Amino acid sequence: RAPYTGQFIIVVIGCGISGVAAAHRLVKSGFHHVRIVEATARSGGRIKTGRLGNNIAEIGASYIHGPSEENPLFCLARDYGLLDPKALTAENQAMDIDERLPWVPNWFSSSGHQKLSTEHMSPALEMFNELLNDTSQFKNQEETPWASVGHFIRSEVRSERWKDKDKSTRKLLLCAVSAKLKEECCASAAHSMDEIDLVGFCMYKGLSGLDCTFPCGFEGLIKNLMSELPADLVTYNRPVSCVHWNNTKNGVNTVIVECDGGERIAADHVIVTVPLGYLKKHHSTLFCPPLPTHKLQSIHKLGFGTCNKIYVEFDSPWWDADCDVIYLVWRDEEDILDHVSDISKSWIRKMSTFTVLKPSERSGIHVLCGWITGHESEYMETLPEQEVRDSITELIRTFTGNATITPRRILRSQWFHDPWTCGSYSHPAIGCSAQDLENMMEPLPTKGSHSQPLQVLFAGEATHPCFYSTVHGALLTGWREADRLISHYSCISQ
Ligand SMILES: Cc1cc2nc3c(=O)[nH]c(=O)nc-3n(C[C@H](O)[C@H](O)[C@H](O)COP(=O)(O)OP(=O)(O)OC[C@H]3O[C@@H](n4cnc5c(N)ncnc54)[C@H](O)[C@@H]3O)c2cc1C
Repeated sequence: RAPYTGQFIIVVIGCGISGVAAAHRLVKSGFHHVRIVEATARSGGRIKTGRLGNNIAEIGASYIHGPSEENPLFCLARDYGLLDPKALTAENQAMDIDERLPWVPNWFSSSGHQKLSTEHMSPALEMFNELLNDTSQFKNQEETPWASVGHFIRSEVRSERWKDKDKSTRKLLLCAVSAKLKEECCASAAHSMDEIDLVGFCMYKGLSGLDCTFPCGFEGLIKNLMSELPADLVTYNRPVSCVHWNNTKNGVNTVIVECDGGERIAADHVIVTVPLGYLKKHHSTLFCPPLPTHKLQSIHKLGFGTCNKIYVEFDSPWWDADCDVIYLVWRDEEDILDHVSDISKSWIRKMSTFTVLKPSERSGIHVLCGWITGHESEYMETLPEQEVRDSITELIRTFTGNATITPRRILRSQWFHDPWTCGSYSHPAIGCSAQDLENMMEPLPTKGSHSQPLQVLFAGEATHPCFYSTVHGALLTGWREADRLISHYSCISQ
């Protein structure tokens, strides 16, 4: 039976994928008074497609992680016709990336001589992947001998590995592990893998399928979803300053959404989708009365870090034609370091990995995407673009030994200084557990309260129990909160 829904006013705060997904499902289920209030002038949030010359450059999310039937984002993108035929093949969907990413690496070292042999470096790659897979043994463990993923990896590598190799090979492989550890920081948007909880790390669930991109840009997904919604559903440039919940007026609870500029919107339900980074900074003013203590504790405990991309365009490639990823190995990092001590001087060291954007047939354009996380990344955001470009030029010249390589142009993201995001995505920081993600998604008022239920609901990537930090996770949380309201009203009507 159709739920009795038409009269209820629902305000969604934030027009990222979780907000759009929630509104889409509610509208399609017969809720007529749904409104999204968005702080910026655009929809998409951390899905943001830019351009570098004629090339698409994703400023936010690039990949569908685990593009297979189990991934609702993959199904949606496929149904909208947004994916390449290769991504749709059964073979691509069945690929188990836990085994090994079938990417062709090129390795360069800070001594600047010729490229390192892939074969020579493969023990570092293999061992690193093996250790990451080994972390699954700590799933649901009460205690572990190591506090963090970084401590585990460093201790395992130091104790056992490559004792049979000659001294200089062993040293080089240890330095390569530092490069891989810095790359791993990007997956978690962590300053250091020493900050990632070893048990918490196992909460993330990978899906099968080799990651794929959107050939015409990730924002195409948002545009398709938005095209199925009423044109006036979103109010842009309208930051919400306070959500007043638990108000009682004539015996009925309404939530008042107060916006910058003074507008006050009365709603029956509010779905909050603002990023965890924003919540960490603004929770005390965003909610009146304040959030319950256990929710606040989880907001503090869960991590939210910065991962930025720097796209760099060249006239001609200095990497192999079949290369997918470039690793830069500093010869003095055998201590397995994933962060630098003197950030203002050495921040560029944090950038160990560049992925190669495959040029379209005739574009003749050669673009790399450099990845950088942590406080080094946050510092990079503060520098003038020319200084960032100069540092990258020097880095590449050092590692290739070629003093003529000059980037044509660069484009970087600056997520830490984005006032509505305050970083990139969430991670399981030391000490957090599945309970914290449960607390994040718990609606207000909490169970046991006698006031009207489901006044404030919470969606967004940092509220998903196992797909946090991803677009598919965020999408599912939007649908989850819409379904919560839909089933609430269908129960009442029955
Ligand atoms: C550099 C980078 C790379 C990434 N790569 C990938 C990837 O390859 N694959 C992947 O799956 N995921 C990736 N992610 C993560 C992914 O982008 C996010 O998990 C997902 O887009 C989050 O969606 P969301 O709806 O939860 O939040 P958001 O997209 O952040 O939406 C929240 C919205 O709330 C708005 N807002 C904030 N405060 C207010 C306020 N006070 N009032 C009104 N509106 C407000 C914001 O402006 C924003 O539009 C990446 C993220 C970054 C930053």
